[in-house]
Amino acid sequence: MPSFRIAVLPGDGIGAEVTPEAMKALHAVGRGAGLTFEFEQALVGGAAIDATGDPLPPASLRLCQQAQAILFGAVGGPKWEDAPHEKRPERGLLALRKELDLFANLRPAKCFPMLVDASPLKRAVVEGTDLMVIRELTGGLYFGEPRGVERFADGGARAVNTMAYTTREIDRVARAAFEVARKRRRRLTSVDKVNVLVVSQLWREVVTQVAKEYPDVTLEHILVDNCAMALVQRPTQFDTLVTENTFGDILSDEAAILAGSMGMLPSASLGGRVGLYEPVHGTAPDIAGKGIANPIAALLSAAMLLRYSLDRPQDADRVDTAVLRVLEQGHRTADIRGEGEKVVGTREMGELIVGEINAQY
Ligand code: NAD
Repeated sequence: MPSFRIAVLPGDGIGAEVTPEAMKALHAVGRGAGLTFEFEQALVGGAAIDATGDPLPPASLRLCQQAQAILFGAVGGPKWEDAPHEKRPERGLLALRKELDLFANLRPAKCFPMLVDASPLKRAVVEGTDLMVIRELTGGLYFGEPRGVERFADGGARAVNTMAYTTREIDRVARAAFEVARKRRRRLTSVDKVNVLVVSQLWREVVTQVAKEYPDVTLEHILVDNCAMALVQRPTQFDTLVTENTFGDILSDEAAILAGSMGMLPSASLGGRVGLYEPVHGTAPDIAGKGIANPIAALLSAAMLLRYSLDRPQDADRVDTAVLRVLEQGHRTADIRGEGEKVVGTREMGELIVGEINAQY
């Protein structure tokens, strides 16, 4: 029986409420498909600061390094807001990304047919949207050198950030993107600003070179400003997109509104040997502890874990299908409720989805 070691870091707030539901879904997949999941839980974020003073204790990092994949909840909250920079909960997540060399951030945006009306865009525009934004996560404008502020004697100043990429950095995220596109509809859109930025010229050159090794994937290039417009005008034209760190930060948030609610958005960060899977949302202090958070983003993150780290696409499809069926039956958490619809809590939503996973084996 195949066995997989999964590090589980629920973190704070609703992270600790939705992650157990994702674990239940993986258990159900394990029972159905004859797989064993060994879950090992560790502290991160505010919970880790309270227990050890460190947002990513060495034991948690070790556990992640030795696992096959990481199921992550969310970190942060008002309790730690005034803590010094190095003692803030989000340092735990940033340190993990760095230590594990997670250079590709995957954010799918899918519009579920029964939630179309939750989107601020017209039905005719968003219906059928199913795209994936891949953001380069460890280079580009966020980390390029030189960077800093120069103060002048006259009281003025000059601030600099640099958008810099090496061939190697572009090559590896491009490969990750082509691999993802292969698992989807085999269309990749590379987003850049080649008409203005030299770094985009190198980006385009390297992506085009890598494309020669993926003749089964269709590649197109688009300028980032055009892409921003097209995402809200004709989002159904896209399948997989890959782009620079800052462009990706902005475009993935723009794409997120297509799906309706924060509670529906999963993500994956890939790169080195171990992938990290987490909902896009944070710890939602306004609803934490009430048992009403939507666990679907966490469950869909578990489906991504099956697809991208464990190479179990059919099991991933079953989790996705289970979510769809439960929504089709009309079950809703408070965040996605339409008028007159009945509401279930976090656990009940998790159990309903597990029931639909079981029904498919
Ligand atoms: P948030 O995503 O936590 O919440 C934004 C809004 O969406 C809130 O009204 C919340 O109730 C709602 N929401 C989010 N997830 C939901 C779910 N699953 N079900 C139902 N409603 C949901 O963002 P925020 O309020 O800006 O941040 C709160 C805390 O989370 C902060 O400390 C922030 O730093 C942290 N944060 C962490 C991460 C992470 O760990 N990756 C990401 C974003 C924010």
